[in-house]
Amino acid sequence: MTAVTVRVPAKVNLQLAVGPARPDGYHEIVTVFHAVSLYDEVTVSHSDRGRVTVTGEGADSVPDGDGNLAMQAASALARAAGLPPRRIPRVASDAAADGAGAVAAGVAIEIRKRIPVAAGLAGGSADAAAALVACNELWRAGLSHAELAEVAAGIGSDVAFALVGGTSVGQGRGERLTPALVAGQYHWVLAFASGGLSTPEVYKACDRIRAARGFTVSPPRPSAGLMAALRSGDPAEVGPLLGNELQPAAISLRPELRRTLAVGREYGALGAVVSGSGPTCAFLVTDAKRAVDLIVALTGAGVCRSAVRVVGPAQGAVVVSPSEISG
Ligand code: ATP
Repeated sequence: MTAVTVRVPAKVNLQLAVGPARPDGYHEIVTVFHAVSLYDEVTVSHSDRGRVTVTGEGADSVPDGDGNLAMQAASALARAAGLPPRRIPRVASDAAADGAGAVAAGVAIEIRKRIPVAAGLAGGSADAAAALVACNELWRAGLSHAELAEVAAGIGSDVAFALVGGTSVGQGRGERLTPALVAGQYHWVLAFASGGLSTPEVYKACDRIRAARGFTVSPPRPSAGLMAALRSGDPAEVGPLLGNELQPAAISLRPELRRTLAVGREYGALGAVVSGSGPTCAFLVTDAKRAVDLIVALTGAGVCRSAVRVVGPAQGAVVVSPSEISG
């Protein structure tokens, strides 16, 4: 095998409850992850000199060296599988000596991005999950799904979810997953903003807003109402129960999102929510036709950079054959 390509989905958060900050700096959260049909593709191949190339949506703002989450995932997998040192990425100083973009001997990683960067859609985590699955195959490392999930949890909060996809409740930092029972398929419009938001900055803003309001932070809990609505398969029941406790913080940093959400509701969305740390807004609609109408309304009103129609739940990271690879 000389190359392996993996397709991996973006996520939206149907619920995001934020608890207290932990001693390690992360917040304790409860979230309902939902994978949607917006995909990045990651191809890995053998190489004497490690390198990462990124093309597509937001490629300029994605690190192409050790900082790339896909390369970090390849490195973590090599260590977990006990592969020979030549396959383990060298440290940044060695990489710098090799010239720009040169990082890990033994693997070349090509990322084709459709998931916007720093958009609250976990695109970087998705690429990391894709790299884990792809390198496991390329190197015939033989890690089980459970072992890959353990490596994923060590890379970032959302990586384990991107491996499995579907709809899951995430606890801890989001890495402890329990699959959710969901009926049917949901139609969404994602409204992309210009520029991204830094997740740590949004959490800091959340802490500031809560402190200024004298808010007592209690342990986060899953919404029983939302879980029941998801089992019903009725988007009209799910829509009003979407919720994100980071939303006020995202809006404080990007006030224009308030109008984006309002226009979506005005034009028939059953539910409207900022995804994760934003700035992408996710709108739940009844069907594909309503999704197209809403895209026209949002772009016509000038309240987003662009908008796309997706469905969920989508499958997690999966190896695709050459004929399935998009051009
Ligand atoms: P979160 O998972 O915190 O919600 P996000 O979806 O808001 O993240 P990402 O697209 O995952 O944001 O990117 C966050 C940061 O990670 C970016 O600013 C980028 O510099 C870095 N990064 C590293 N590797 C990648 C990658 N393969 N794709 C995108 N961003 C990457």
